[in-house]
Amino acid sequence: MANDYEYLSKENISQYLKSKSVFNNLIDADNIVEFNEVGDGNLNLVFILKDSKGKGVVLKQALPYVRLVGPDWPMTPSRARIESETTIIHSKFAKDLVPEIYDFDEERFIIAMEDLSDHRVWRGALNEGLRYEGVAKPLGEYVAKTAFGTSVFGLGHDKHKQEVARAINPELCLITEDLVFTEPYFDNGRNSVLETNKKDAEDLANDKDMVREIGLLKYKFMTSAESLIHGDLHTGSVMIKGNDKEQAISVKAIDCEFAFYGPLGFDLGALIANYTIAAARARALGNVEQMKWLLSLAEQTWEGFESTIRKLWPTRVDKRVFNDEVFENLIKTWKSDAQGYAGAKMARRIVGLAKTSDIETLEPNLREGAARAVLQMARLSTKERDLGKSWKNIAQQFETIIEKTVTK
Ligand code: ADP
Ligand code: MG
Repeated sequence: MANDYEYLSKENISQYLKSKSVFNNLIDADNIVEFNEVGDGNLNLVFILKDSKGKGVVLKQALPYVRLVGPDWPMTPSRARIESETTIIHSKFAKDLVPEIYDFDEERFIIAMEDLSDHRVWRGALNEGLRYEGVAKPLGEYVAKTAFGTSVFGLGHDKHKQEVARAINPELCLITEDLVFTEPYFDNGRNSVLETNKKDAEDLANDKDMVREIGLLKYKFMTSAESLIHGDLHTGSVMIKGNDKEQAISVKAIDCEFAFYGPLGFDLGALIANYTIAAARARALGNVEQMKWLLSLAEQTWEGFESTIRKLWPTRVDKRVFNDEVFENLIKTWKSDAQGYAGAKMARRIVGLAKTSDIETLEPNLREGAARAVLQMARLSTKERDLGKSWKNIAQQFETIIEKTVTK
């Protein structure tokens, strides 16, 4: 694959827009008045462009390496194709919950998409202590609709098989396999924690029951081809638009470059992990009500997921042996997977590479307790995923852990 393609810059971007007719009606390439390189992502270049009439377009270009690290960490730019194709497929099932894709440039790995600059990244809002209602449930609906629609239930035998082959994403899957499932337990030199959290990280890696469950979850991640999952559905991959009553009026899942055919519980777990991390932050900053609210979001996401997939179930392609009893078993498995993957995602964000601003922007004396809380919640979530606990019970147990560790 050629990696010597031209990168977008302020100088060549108008010319790029003019070179493709798809932009004719989207933006006036001769009158670009705003040019922002957003650059809060880790991997890619993102440009927000606006013309003098206020029309906007976002261009996202994948470089042949990880932007955060540089050319020393090469990374296939085909991830942009994966993101573009997946977003288009997901939009068939959950149109309102993803950005519209206008174009994909396969020579320069550029996605042109809907400008969401009237939205903001959810993680940033949560970090500020804001409480937009109406985000967690639609995200559960997003997982249900996209997962069902791309599953064997939604697609049937032939299409599902073809899709599994098309959507293969080995390089980005390897990142997850390493960073989420392996390195928190077998340090490859990329882990880091505060000196005062060293023992917490050791306790995690030495927890035999945890490592066994992580092994099982990793194996499932590597071999289950349930649905075309987002693959990186944390609160930084969600953009929201709110009204002045802190009610979300638009929710969008962005940045699905890690998408592949995997276990759908991985997406639910990613959301839940990030709510839990945000809850530890809120309590560390003394905001008890915010913590309680954040801990209630897992149930909202799950309810959005379960009610939606229940409604879709009767539409499955082949009903012969996929009967209602099968469905009830699957619901149990998905809940177990969600809790298991939630723990895996919590732990990696504390000890591994690529941490979260929720925790990292806390003063070290507050960060220590918050990090400890997240690691303890991670172990509980993953190890006790098959006990059939209610979400309220889990939230209560998490709250107890946070109160003990954050406010020691
Ligand atoms: P990366 O893959 O590099 O992490 P993201 O897709 O997360 O990139 O985008 C990086 C940032 O760019 C986001 O956090 C958000 O602030 C901004 N962004 C991404 N897509 C859009 C969009 N369609 N409209 C407006 N801003 C966007
Ligand atoms: Mg990304």
